[in-house]
Amino acid sequence: MQRGLKIGLIVFLVVACLALGGLLLSRLVAAPAAALPSPSPVSTPIPTPTPAPTPTPSMYAFPAAGTVSVNGTDQVNELVDVRLYLPEVKVNMMYAGSDNFTGQPVYTKDLCLLQKHTLEKLKKAQALFAKDGYTLVIYDAYRPLSAQRILYDAMPNSSYIANPDRASNHNRGVAVDVTLMDAQGNLLEMPSEIDTFNITAHRDFPNIHQYEEGSDAYNALLKQYPDILSYPARSQTATDNMHYLTNIMQQCGFTTIRSEWWHFADSDAKQFPATDLDFQSVPMGTAPPELVPAPQSPSGNK
Ligand SMILES: [Zn+2]
Repeated sequence: MQRGLKIGLIVFLVVACLALGGLLLSRLVAAPAAALPSPSPVSTPIPTPTPAPTPTPSMYAFPAAGTVSVNGTDQVNELVDVRLYLPEVKVNMMYAGSDNFTGQPVYTKDLCLLQKHTLEKLKKAQALFAKDGYTLVIYDAYRPLSAQRILYDAMPNSSYIANPDRASNHNRGVAVDVTLMDAQGNLLEMPSEIDTFNITAHRDFPNIHQYEEGSDAYNALLKQYPDILSYPARSQTATDNMHYLTNIMQQCGFTTIRSEWWHFADSDAKQFPATDLDFQSVPMGTAPPELVPAPQSPSGNK
């Protein structure tokens, strides 16, 4: 019996030691987890909006150039690929993807086309912006008439989307929707987002807050724009940037419209025909050597 007791005691001690060891081990293992700080609110910097990276296509569009007869008059139609002829600008065709007001792609191919005549003007504008350290960002350019119909059906308000029966200058390949970005890739502050269909996008969006509440001028604005008080006042920076963009575009031969600060059309727009080019049928290829821009000379000045 005594021997049996001894064995029992030893077994008890071994089991007790194992249990204690296990407990200590579990505490040790658990300790680091318990020591971890609980998640605390960390101030996350607000991301600066940057345009989507410009795809660098190895293939460029080569739409057939020629003339189109409009009411018995031949009109020159020479659409060219902006990425090929003006690689300095950023291209982010909003209707080629889903990030537009319709929520889905409207174009069947990511093509940025303009009449060559218009592109030459845009090239001059880009050179002037570049002197100040800015780059044009293009959100839309040539738009086939069938795409115009899709957009108009989604937003049948001709202040913002032209009725396809009368055609938009985009359908002629002579209008661009643009903004500017700085050397760090940040978009400049402008009056509104592109494709904002309310008065904040208007060039002449008035500042009602400069008038005394109840004054004649205040009441007149309220009558003209019943929802004006639901929008914040436009900042001076946004106003200045809009004017800066506009002045250079106008200098280079572009006209503006009242309802969209981002829309510019070639002042020679009516010389060009509105067309319904099928993007899928546009031949693609690599750039002929004479069109590939020469690398910048590091010494410059030559
Ligand atoms: Zn436009």
